[in-house]
Amino acid sequence: MKINKIEPRGYCQGVKNALAMAQNVLKDSSYPQPIYFLGSIIHNHEVVRSLKKNGAVIVDQSQKSRLELLDRIEKGTVVFSAHGVSPAVWQKAREKGLHIVDTTCANVKIVHQKMKQFLQNGYECCYIGTKYHPECEGVLGISSRIHLIEKTEDIENLTIQSSKIYITNQTTLSMMDTRKLYEIFLKKFPLAIIDNRICNATTLRQKAVYEQEPVDLCIIVGDASSSNSKKLVEVAKKRGIPSMLIENADQLKNIDFSHLSSISISSGASTPEEITDTIIQAIKEKVR
Ligand code: SF4
Repeated sequence: MKINKIEPRGYCQGVKNALAMAQNVLKDSSYPQPIYFLGSIIHNHEVVRSLKKNGAVIVDQSQKSRLELLDRIEKGTVVFSAHGVSPAVWQKAREKGLHIVDTTCANVKIVHQKMKQFLQNGYECCYIGTKYHPECEGVLGISSRIHLIEKTEDIENLTIQSSKIYITNQTTLSMMDTRKLYEIFLKKFPLAIIDNRICNATTLRQKAVYEQEPVDLCIIVGDASSSNSKKLVEVAKKRGIPSMLIENADQLKNIDFSHLSSISISSGASTPEEITDTIIQAIKEKVR
């Protein structure tokens, strides 16, 4: 069976930087202890497990905001994830006297800066994102005046009187879905300033998956909680290629590869290459 490894795949620069910072903090005993991580530093269980082994205390719970999770931390160091946090989280962490290590990706920081700038200049601001994703939580936390757009109906239901409108988006969304939402938005608000902020790493990975040569199955290696990994599955399906998300080699057990003559493999920006290598190896053994 032919196995195409799609490139680029795996860690983006933002994730590499965040992990390098996290590992340095854990190695350096001069940081105030304990070392808490507010939420998963990146969306990958294996990585989070290995950080825990090295002494990290992960404070996370689904449906709990970063601001709520911070209530559980009273001393030591708090590490903010690559997704960024809201100004209220910064303020609360400072008030608690915590030592802060900020691993927010530079691309997310730009979104925060621009959002603040347009709000200060009196614009009505909108944000295309996924409600409970931490990156979205961080941006929406800048101001209660930001309108969240998740789907077409949100645009249809939106009423804005001002002609000064700014709209931007979460960095890891699907390029195609976001482009469509922007087209619909512009039809309703033709004077709006559109600021598409899907990051370069996301764009390149999605393009590579979309432009791949046709195969019987495209496997995306990544966590179910990883937005950019899930988007890669959607992109492959939009190209007409059956696709699935696989977190680890164990999940291959129930997949029947016997009728497939070609597959392709890519991975999300938060997936370590070692996991992808293990999965490729496991597939080779299964079809041998
Ligand atoms: S996916 Fe993009 S925005 Fe997110 S951490 Fe990586 S480079 Fe930064």
